[in-house]
Amino acid sequence: MADARKDWAHQRSTVIIRENQAVFVEDLCVTGLARTRLAKSVHDAGWGMFTRLLEEKAARYGRTFVKVNRFFPSSQLCSVCGRVDGPKPLSVRTWSCPCGAVHDRDLNAAINIHAAGRAEWLNACGETVSLLA
Ligand SMILES: [Zn+2]
Repeated sequence: MADARKDWAHQRSTVIIRENQAVFVEDLCVTGLARTRLAKSVHDAGWGMFTRLLEEKAARYGRTFVKVNRFFPSSQLCSVCGRVDGPKPLSVRTWSCPCGAVHDRDLNAAINIHAAGRAEWLNACGETVSLLA
C-alpha cells in the first residue's frame, strides 16, 4: 500500500511538473487544494512527501516552484479587493466581503495562493510587485 501511494505520488507530480511552468503550493495548510482534483494526493500520499517530489522535479525540469508561507492568510484575504476579513472557522465554506464579492472559501484561498506565489516568484526575479495590486 505504501509503495502504491509512492508510485502514484511520483506519477502525479511528474505530470503536474510537465504540464505547468510554475507550481505554487501553500506550506502545510491544504485548504486551497482540498476540493480540487489534487485532493486525493493531498490526503492519500501525504502532503509533505508530495510537495518534496514537486520541488525536486521542478528543479530537474527547470520549473518554478514556490512555497507560500503557511501564515499567509489565504482564506481570510478577499481575492477581489484585498481586504483581510479575519479568521474563519473551517465550517465557513462561503463568505461575503463588504466589497460585494461572495467567495467559495477554497477557491478564494487558491486564487490568493496563486497570487502570492506569483508575487514571490516575480520578486525573486528582481521585479517589484504588490500582492494587493
Ligand atoms: Zn473584498
